[in-house]
Amino acid sequence: MGRMDFIRKLTIPKEVKEMYPLTPQMEETVSSTTSELEEIFDGRSDRLALIIGPCSADNEDSVVDYVSRLIPVAEKVKDKLMIIPRVYTNKPRTTGAGYKGLLHQPNPNEAPDIFKGILATRHMHMRVVEETGFGCADEMLYPENYRYLDDLLCYVAVGARSVENQQHRLTASGVNCPVGMKNPTSGVYSVMLNAIKAAQDPHTFIFRGWEVHSQGNPYTHAILRGFASKHGGTHPNYHFEELLTLSNLYKEEGLLNPAVIIDTNHANSGKNPYEQPRIIKDVLHSMRAHEDVSKIVKGFMVESYIEYGAQKVGGGCYGKSITDPCLGWEKTEKLIYEIADLI
Ligand code: PEP
Ligand code: MN
Repeated sequence: MGRMDFIRKLTIPKEVKEMYPLTPQMEETVSSTTSELEEIFDGRSDRLALIIGPCSADNEDSVVDYVSRLIPVAEKVKDKLMIIPRVYTNKPRTTGAGYKGLLHQPNPNEAPDIFKGILATRHMHMRVVEETGFGCADEMLYPENYRYLDDLLCYVAVGARSVENQQHRLTASGVNCPVGMKNPTSGVYSVMLNAIKAAQDPHTFIFRGWEVHSQGNPYTHAILRGFASKHGGTHPNYHFEELLTLSNLYKEEGLLNPAVIIDTNHANSGKNPYEQPRIIKDVLHSMRAHEDVSKIVKGFMVESYIEYGAQKVGGGCYGKSITDPCLGWEKTEKLIYEIADLI
């Protein structure tokens, strides 16, 4: 008796992967997408990465629908942009309350069911890769769950509320694809840079009851998402001076593959998703103004779904976010072509 009830022992990642294995074609999609993305982060390619999709991947059909719409657009801009869909199955919550993502609630209107959630998460990621040919991104909110999806993900983000955590940093050092470390909600750069340093180094640590050794991940980089001051409110950090400061800090730290992705929503947009196109254009302008800025900015992260805005859980509108407000499809399509024209 205590404050925690142990409900059931969960199937381990190895067994879930045996139950739902990738086809050779899916393996090829994931490995070639990851390699292409690594070329952007280490400067072999001068394309920009565009990590784009809903704040939370709450419904398999609307997520597959959304990602399918990206196919013809991605094809047209592929010389300049590499599109990586955001398929985010875990949501960090500021106070712990609210929808925690598909992993906890495979049906957002029903009680949590984690085993169903694990299977639903893998199923959704597999379906997206198989039906659309894209390799995708997710957030590593719970490091111990990473291996349920490690053969599927081509980009992993560590969120603003997790980036100072040792287990996230050590696990990132063993992740098979580029990892973006967000600035913490306080905006302090040293926390983000220390996370990048930690993840670029090798480590020995405990992971899922094993003693493991990680090689270090040279493609760990920064994501700027804006911040809140001690008095609250939101403050952007995508402006020219911030990007130049980050470039100078990168030079001092001597990290591998200096790179930053600009998250255009969250505290950068003040959660007004309509601001995202303007923010991207501002950053593209800053890149033209200074070579150092142009060298470290490797792309953008945009929150976008089929419908504009957000609704409450159970709102019932197809393709509309139940977490942060998103840009709608029409404006998204237009934005992608605009970015490609500007670079
Ligand atoms: C997100 O990407 O939806 C998110 C929760 O980001 P952050 O960690 O920056 O708040
Ligand atoms: Mn979000």
